[in-house]
Amino acid sequence: MAIYKISYSKEFKRANIHNYGCNFNCTWCSYKLGNQPKPDRFLDLGEIKEVLSSLDIERVHFVGGELSTYPLLREVADFAKNELGVYTKIGHSNGYGLPPKSIDAISVSIKSLSEDFYIKYTGKSNKPVLENFQKAYKMGIKVDASSVYIPKLVDHDEIEEIAEFVANIDPEISYHITGYIPVPGAPWRAPTWDEIAKAQEIAEDYLHHVEVSWFPSFDDYLKMISENPQYQKVIVA
Ligand code: SF4
Repeated sequence: MAIYKISYSKEFKRANIHNYGCNFNCTWCSYKLGNQPKPDRFLDLGEIKEVLSSLDIERVHFVGGELSTYPLLREVADFAKNELGVYTKIGHSNGYGLPPKSIDAISVSIKSLSEDFYIKYTGKSNKPVLENFQKAYKMGIKVDASSVYIPKLVDHDEIEEIAEFVANIDPEISYHITGYIPVPGAPWRAPTWDEIAKAQEIAEDYLHHVEVSWFPSFDDYLKMISENPQYQKVIVA
C-alpha cells in the first residue's frame, strides 16, 4: 500500500522503509498480534528521497506487510540503488509480485507447494509465488526462502517438499524455518523445539544453509527484538 515510516540504524548504516498493508490474508499472520492501527499519514516519494539522502547509509531495507503492494517500490529502489549506491533488500515478501531489478536481495515466504492450500489459507494462488521466486533468482537477485512450521498444517512433509523445490533451483539458497506463534482465533498450537529441530534436519537433507527460529510465546519474540542489536533503530520520518 504505502510507506508510513523510515527508521535508521546508525550501527549498521541501514535505513528501514516501513510499508503498511498486504494483499494476502494468512490465517496465522503474526502482524495481527501487534494490533497495529492503520497509520494516519504516509510519506510521499519526495519525502522518502530527502530522508534517505540525509542519512549515512550503506543499506536500505524494505520491511512490513507486503512491499510489492507499494506502487512506488521501483522508484524508491531505483533511487536507493542507482542514485545513492546502497544495497537494497526486501526483508520479507509473500512473493506474489516480482521485485524490480534494483533490488539486490529478497526473502520470500513459501507456505506450501499446494495451490489449494494457498487459496484456502491466504486467499491467493501460489503460482505467481513459485514462478517469481525462480525468476528473481535468474535475474541475479539474492533470494532466500522461509516457511512457518505449523504442526499438522505446515508439517514435516510440507517442509520437505518446499526444501526440495528450493534445492532444485540452487541448494545454496538459504532457508529459514520459523516456529508458529499462535494467533487468536486460529486452531493451531505452537510447535515444540523437537519438532522444529526435526524440520531443520529434514530441510538439511536438501539445502546447505538452513536456520530455524522458535519462540515459546509472542512475548519471548518481542524480548528478542528488544535485545538484538540488529533490531535497534530510531524513527527518522
Ligand atoms: S503474507 Fe505475511 S504479512 Fe501478509 S498476511 Fe500473510 S503472513 Fe501476514
